[in-house]
Amino acid sequence: MAASLINGKEIAQEIRSEVKTEIECLKESHGLTPGLAVVLIGDDPASAIYVKNKEIACEEVGINTRTFHLPANASEEQVVEMIISLNENDLYHGILTQLPFPSHINESSVIDNLDPAKDVDGLHPYNVGLLAAGTPRFIAATPYGVQQMLVRTGNDPAGKHVVVCGRSNIVGKPLSVLLSQKDLGSNATVTLCHSNTIDLGHFTKQADILVAAIGSPGAIKGDMVKEGAVVIDVGINRIDDASKKRGYRLVGDVEFSDVSEVASAITPVPGGVGPMTIAMLLVNTVAAAKSGVD
Ligand code: NDP
Repeated sequence: MAASLINGKEIAQEIRSEVKTEIECLKESHGLTPGLAVVLIGDDPASAIYVKNKEIACEEVGINTRTFHLPANASEEQVVEMIISLNENDLYHGILTQLPFPSHINESSVIDNLDPAKDVDGLHPYNVGLLAAGTPRFIAATPYGVQQMLVRTGNDPAGKHVVVCGRSNIVGKPLSVLLSQKDLGSNATVTLCHSNTIDLGHFTKQADILVAAIGSPGAIKGDMVKEGAVVIDVGINRIDDASKKRGYRLVGDVEFSDVSEVASAITPVPGGVGPMTIAMLLVNTVAAAKSGVD
């Protein structure tokens, strides 16, 4: 079977157009421009690229955005101070902390100081709890993007066995909670695998929908996938490639050439989940702005 390609760029563009229209209405009806503050610490090149892409996407749809850049040696106190001042700044309805932080800064301490009403990444424990309770406010952008990709390509998770590989707080864990909700676009039976899972292939082969969020290039091979499964590759890994000007290329966690022979549909890397993550951040920012006027 040659799998069809799930084009994240196209679906993300569709969502961005919807967001743009919603923002135009908000401006007209309430004179309100949604604002997003991005907190970037240090000079990690990958983070700088992600932040730049987020800025471009915000500008395209009409979100007022500004990146607050702190040096790599900024103290945790300085970061928390910045978060507290942004919590009180009415220009910004959403605050995004670009992870990972330098190792001397405790991510949880910073996130705990975010106003949950501005936590458009859905990482504050209060928002994590709301999702677990079945009353989500902000769903973490990557899991939300994966769900939208599935729903918008006619691969509704309802009644399916979804196997999620990876249990991080930003991808695997919230995705497993989201897709097992008793709600539209969810209602799946979910298995969550991780590095202590014994015989990963035993579980992945049972998946109707397989999501790889491991951070290991090509970890999911063709013989680990059920014929006809839908495969979502969240992984973004840099591997050396002397033929490229920049010296590397991006690959996912899925061995694309083998798996696309077995799966019915598959996401590419790049151009799959990545653009969806940005699109859902825009959706959450608009939701944050609207919560003040509804
Ligand atoms: P983390 O490193 O935080 O988590 C990786 C998870 O994978 C952990 O739960 C780990 O298990 C598990 N894992 C590691 N090795 C194996 C294995 N051999 N078998 C099964 N599980 C394993 O990564 P993230 O969740 O932050 O990111 C995962 C990938 O997704 C990365 O490539 C990242 O770049 C990418 N990413 C892409 C985004 C996008 O927009 N497309 C957004 C965010 C991330 P354990 O818990 O036991 O350590």
